[in-house]
Amino acid sequence: MRVGVFSAKRYDRDSLLEANARAEVSHELVFLEARLSPETAPIGAGYPALCVFVNDRVDGAVLATLAAGQTRLVALRCAGFNNVDLGTARRLGIAVARVPGYSPYAVAEHTLALILTFERKIHRALNRVRDGNFALDGLLGTELHGSTVGIVGTGKIGATVARVLSGFGVTMLACDLTPDPACEALGVRYVPLEELLRAADVVTLHCPLTPDTRHLLDARRIAMMRQNALVVNTSRGALIDTVAIIEALKTGRLRGLAIDVYEEEERLFFEDHSSEIVQDDTFARLLTLPNVIVTGHQAFFTDHALRDIATTTLQSITLFERGAAVPNRIP
Ligand code: NAD
Repeated sequence: MRVGVFSAKRYDRDSLLEANARAEVSHELVFLEARLSPETAPIGAGYPALCVFVNDRVDGAVLATLAAGQTRLVALRCAGFNNVDLGTARRLGIAVARVPGYSPYAVAEHTLALILTFERKIHRALNRVRDGNFALDGLLGTELHGSTVGIVGTGKIGATVARVLSGFGVTMLACDLTPDPACEALGVRYVPLEELLRAADVVTLHCPLTPDTRHLLDARRIAMMRQNALVVNTSRGALIDTVAIIEALKTGRLRGLAIDVYEEEERLFFEDHSSEIVQDDTFARLLTLPNVIVTGHQAFFTDHALRDIATTTLQSITLFERGAAVPNRIP
């Protein structure tokens, strides 16, 4: 099948070409640097399958253009699908597939890396030591042991975070629409969200972005949180009302924020803007706060996960081409 790969970076190219060479059936892969948007959607004409990523826009207008260009499958090379208008895709007869189960360790381990970096001030220490400054003032750490961690969403990633955290001697609280007995067996106690927010020293978000979870942490809920709380988000930026959390961070209402995702990341992440002036004032403000650490949506980015993503994406395309059931199709 002829597959157009939007937002293709060198690492996408490498992992997809390698998986394509290994696969039983190979596809004609065409790598397109452009991000999918209403303006670039016409480039997708003539590809029966298109492969897209987290910040490609697959809204109603884009889907209408793709349908007119004979696209029949949109294969997301990621787990979250909040960027797709599924209702319109269904109406236009465009199938949508994703990669729901690629290495949850990638994101879970990055979550732990963010927590430990923040708690032990590793980011500040690295810069200081490079500068020949070995003073410890300002590097006082906080132990995780003995603290309470609240996990919001215990699906594949949240449950993996719980498994890793279970070795740290923390009290684990969680909230999810469906409690997971395997997490309960690790000692996780399921409580309502607001109880979790009132009790946790670290709150880590692992639920998907949906209309119900948009701004899950808004000013009202942030006000319920403990004064010393650290908020960690490796899920989707819009789970947090950024303006509200900046206010809480500025006033010391919260201890810190460690994020891999940002609600307006679409205009920033995955590109080198190092020679430009950041035009997003909210993001620029975040970066000035000493109690904030940010990575640019790299939690998924491991060798193992890239291999899994490429293999599963190409398998979905092969099954679709054969007219077989695609297990990773979003209903
Ligand atoms: P999953 O579907 O396995 O788990 C999500 C869990 O959230 C489910 O158990 C679900 O019941 C729960 N949930 C849904 N609504 C909720 C709510 N209102 N309150 C509490 N829990 C709720 O998904 P996953 O594979 O664990 O991935 C979680 C999210 O991580 C994805 O949606 C994606 O947005 C994000 N993600 C980020 C990266 C990254 O690189 N930063 C990579 C992969 C996934």
